[in-house]
Amino acid sequence: MQNYKYLIIGGGMTAAAAAAGIREVDTAGGIGLLSEEPDAPYNRPPLSKKLWKGKPLETIWRKMEGAQVDLRLGRRAVEIMPGKKRVKDDTGETFSYEKLLVATGGAPRRLPLRAGDIIYFRTLADYRRLRAAADSVRRFAVIGGGFIGSEIAAALAMNGKEVVMVFPGNDIGDRIFPGTLSRHLSEYYRKKGVEVIAGEKITGLEIRNNQRILKTGGGREIVVDEVVAGIGLEPAVELARSSGIAVDDGIVVSELLQTNLPDIFAAGDVAQFYNPALGKRIRVEHEDNANTMGRLAGRNMAGMSEPYTHLPYFYSDLFDLGYEAVGELDSRLETFIDWKRPFEEGVVYYLKAGRVRGVLLWNVWEQVDAARALIADPGPFTLNDLKGRLPAAKK
Ligand SMILES: Cc1cc2nc3c(=O)[nH]c(=O)nc-3n(C[C@H](O)[C@H](O)[C@H](O)COP(=O)(O)OP(=O)(O)OC[C@H]3O[C@@H](n4cnc5c(N)ncnc54)[C@H](O)[C@@H]3O)c2cc1C
Repeated sequence: MQNYKYLIIGGGMTAAAAAAGIREVDTAGGIGLLSEEPDAPYNRPPLSKKLWKGKPLETIWRKMEGAQVDLRLGRRAVEIMPGKKRVKDDTGETFSYEKLLVATGGAPRRLPLRAGDIIYFRTLADYRRLRAAADSVRRFAVIGGGFIGSEIAAALAMNGKEVVMVFPGNDIGDRIFPGTLSRHLSEYYRKKGVEVIAGEKITGLEIRNNQRILKTGGGREIVVDEVVAGIGLEPAVELARSSGIAVDDGIVVSELLQTNLPDIFAAGDVAQFYNPALGKRIRVEHEDNANTMGRLAGRNMAGMSEPYTHLPYFYSDLFDLGYEAVGELDSRLETFIDWKRPFEEGVVYYLKAGRVRGVLLWNVWEQVDAARALIADPGPFTLNDLKGRLPAAKK
């Protein structure tokens, strides 16, 4: 049996950040990492953005050399034995740990259709498959109008592909953007040559003459060469749940990122934590959270006691538009839109009971900290208070 002082389950960005965090505190203790993926840890965001804009694949790898991590790739952890402080993988090999991190992230939600016919986009393997398809065929369907769907549709269109986007909502990004902005976004995609089919659910998929025929609830048939989907994430909690780790909408962690079981921590997309600025427990599926929380989990595994109070931000690139955002972006909240140039540059404030719950910085940069401060401020705010509030004047 292999013994590790620190064992990490998962090979994503959280895992890589945790290894670096451990090394900030403990330069010697052995670190083992079990990842189901065959690839060493890499950054996921470029898979739907920069790699389609000419950035080379070599740029995505996480720098792991300095952390001296024993990478066990292509291995799935199948059992955690908290009493014995051991983990078993799918080859039957067992590893012991003093401190364990569960950083299992999540798996893409799937449609009830035959597996294998659709690329559910998440990993480098998915990117390679989609890239190979883009190199050989012409017409793509993208299912989903959220983060992944909108980025992949833009990436394929920018690479000269014919793209049909289909999703059940009214407009692209309508769960997070106010109606006027998501309507504008759908029109913007259409102008970029993307066929946007809103208000339709996929109910079937047939393969005929090497083509994929998607059927919609409204009776349409969409004929394409390849189908890619981004319809949300299911946190990978089963391993934790079956080991007695408390799970809600994700693995429940304390402010020190510990689970309910001794010496077991969790972080990243899979972890549900209390955020003081928002005053509630949240689970966040974004890069800043993976990096910041992963690093802190590593430091705390190595003996520190630092609370995670960070309010993560996120970002996206859609053709030549880009944004950063903090807090709760939920289009059901009251919103106040403060455009400098309509749909090109401005700030959207999301409000509840006089407090700012979220801020969208649309082509507005270096304002994330100011937005965080606004969310932490108890207010109360009126719409008049917010007009012109961001970008904050430079000190
Ligand atoms: C295409 C794409 C684009 C993105 N773009 C952005 C962006 O622009 N901005 C942003 O803020 N965020 C973005 N994100 C989100 C961000 O990448 C994620 O929040 C982050 O990668 C989460 O990291 P994680 O390590 O917590 O989870 P994951 O990345 O899901 O990693 C979990 C790892 O654990 C492994 N694993 C799971 N179960 C087991 C097991 N039982 N045994 C062994 N290994 C296991 C998985 O194989 C995987 O390697 C994007 C995500 C994707 C997929």
